[in-house]
Amino acid sequence: MEYLQNKFGKKLDKCILCSSEKIYHYHTDFNGIDIFRCKNCGVQFMNPQYSDVYLSEYYSGYSVDEPQWEEPLLYCHDYYLSLIEKYVNKGNLLDVGSGKGYMLAAAKKRGWEAAGYDVDEKWNEKLSRKLDVEIKSGNFLELEWKTEFNAVVMHHVIEHLKNPLLYIRKIYELLKKDGVLFLALPNINSRSAVFKRTLEKMGIRKKNTGAYYDTGHHMFYFTPGSLRILLEHNGYEVLTTKSGHAARPNQTALKRSFMRNISDRLLWKSTFLMICRKKELFTAI
Ligand SMILES: [Zn+2]
Repeated sequence: MEYLQNKFGKKLDKCILCSSEKIYHYHTDFNGIDIFRCKNCGVQFMNPQYSDVYLSEYYSGYSVDEPQWEEPLLYCHDYYLSLIEKYVNKGNLLDVGSGKGYMLAAAKKRGWEAAGYDVDEKWNEKLSRKLDVEIKSGNFLELEWKTEFNAVVMHHVIEHLKNPLLYIRKIYELLKKDGVLFLALPNINSRSAVFKRTLEKMGIRKKNTGAYYDTGHHMFYFTPGSLRILLEHNGYEVLTTKSGHAARPNQTALKRSFMRNISDRLLWKSTFLMICRKKELFTAI
């Protein structure tokens, strides 16, 4: 049980994303996990973070037995791809954190040349055979790929990382000129999270405080504003920001149109998505 004794690493004394030392304690969740906030870029993060040994134990055996997909989730990924295709031609797509393979399956169906990355090698092998796509594991930051990518996807991945900055920079190198990066993630300033946090700070809500941070496996907590700062400071131009989509295939056309054109633009929901483009001639400082 070594991994439980060393559950946490060293306390961070500056922001991992922008290097600012102006970080401060912001909240504590019901498990006693401390959440800090960076005054400079606005990101919130667990501090201290889980240790590497704890995380590798946590993520081992994350997968299920056989690849199979639920129709509503496939539908959602198909919609996300249709948004990506507004900004870039179909070509090579890399799904970072390909998980159960929803994005890979939907991308292949739409005519993309898809490839994936995830931590569980055994699962990747199974999925790779089923979909006939390449899925790599290992240290993502050191992986080399045969091709550059027109699009890279991070669907509910960035909030799990100990250092999102290194991934954002690595993906910059993997993208073709004018390639796009799609991110979907929780919004820590969703209407519901802001409401609950306000009640908690007033001492009115005392149970399950900060449960919306999902500190069991999330280490960074973004808002559309703090994610935009991270991307713009690292060579990307933000093209669109919307709420995450929860449409189901059997929705009426009217409801679907309302969601896509009105409610998804309000950024109230618990998740959001952002599509950004790699700018040319950017050198990280
Ligand atoms: Zn910062």
